[in-house]
Amino acid sequence: MGIRLTGIMDPRSISSPNATLLSRLTKTSAEAIEKALEGLGVSDAQALHLIDLPDEELPALLAAASSLRDRHTGATVTYSPKAFFPVTNLCLDRCSYCTFRHDPGSPAAWTMLPEDVRQVANRAAHMGCIEALMCLGDKPERAFKSYRATLSVLGHETTVSYVAACCAIALDEGMLPHTNAGLLSREEMISLRPLNVSLGLMLESTSPRLRERGGAHFSAPDKDPGLRLEMMRQAGELRIPFTTGILLGIGESIPDRVHSLRAIAELHQRYGHIQEIIVQNFRAKSSTKMAATPEPESFEIARAVAVARLMMPSMNIQVPPNLNPYDLRLFLQAGINDWGGISPLTLDFVNPEAPWPQITSLRATCASEGYALAPRMPVYPEYTGTEFIDPALRPAIEAQQQREGAHHVGIHA
Ligand code: SF4
Repeated sequence: MGIRLTGIMDPRSISSPNATLLSRLTKTSAEAIEKALEGLGVSDAQALHLIDLPDEELPALLAAASSLRDRHTGATVTYSPKAFFPVTNLCLDRCSYCTFRHDPGSPAAWTMLPEDVRQVANRAAHMGCIEALMCLGDKPERAFKSYRATLSVLGHETTVSYVAACCAIALDEGMLPHTNAGLLSREEMISLRPLNVSLGLMLESTSPRLRERGGAHFSAPDKDPGLRLEMMRQAGELRIPFTTGILLGIGESIPDRVHSLRAIAELHQRYGHIQEIIVQNFRAKSSTKMAATPEPESFEIARAVAVARLMMPSMNIQVPPNLNPYDLRLFLQAGINDWGGISPLTLDFVNPEAPWPQITSLRATCASEGYALAPRMPVYPEYTGTEFIDPALRPAIEAQQQREGAHHVGIHA
């Protein structure tokens, strides 16, 4: 890559892909961007070129992505008011960047009790949270006998069975669950479907190298990209609205990022179930094996966001605002239309050092770029009222729609 741009760009310079910006492009860049602006998407070769184009051409790329976002999602950017339920932080896997997971016996290990779930859900619902994010370690019962005993005391044999019970509690308290419990079987997804308005699993990367010795996923068997793509495919067959995304900076190459986005795009083209793509950046944490690994730079993240937008013009594209609090305007300029879950009550337990933004502050940032900020449900409106929603969830969704009223974008029937 060339020399990196630093600092926030003047938004006036990228407000539209005007003739001046286009005239500065090489022929290859101009052809790719013009094709994208015509709504024709971009080829892999064009995406690979665009994600690595020279810095002086970056304003045109961002302007094109921003223009496509405006065309498809208008002048509103959304977020999901949520509470984070870290049901257990025990995990079968050992990703080299993770500070969330712990082994049984560690003072920092936990498994939430049903009464904890109810108490948090009750408070969260009263605070206006809609999403109950069940986010937890991957299949700890396969690794830890003591955890199997804990599950047994709770009346369950598997984590997924227990998570389903937690989802029922959250629903009972008026919240809408969205579960990311790692790799799930078809049967497990079937069991969670009537209790979750959507499910999630980060693809992270299609790169098989990350599973090799020394790679970020060497000790994380469930991070096999083939297994994750297969789960996402099965979720499509099961008509489950699905959240996924890529993780930047964990040892993948720049082309790997394009290949990962293409794999997601192909699944969505086939099944229509990918409701949003998260473009998340690795953060180096001091207690991990990857503490000294460089973090992706702001414009590197923006390039990935913009190329994702050009590859999938109508997709909901999200960057977590708490991981990059000083780059929010840049990401709006790069074509995002969503900030994901933000909680007034609970930490981001995966990144507890990164506080959520205040909604008033985020609203002002969006307004400075010309966008309104609006809450949404953990399932996007294009899926509510369709076969993607299990009939058992319709009353909860309708209750939410009535409770919140039509002023909430994304909560329409
Ligand atoms: S990132 Fe997820 S799968 Fe990997 S160790 Fe942490 S909790 Fe487990």
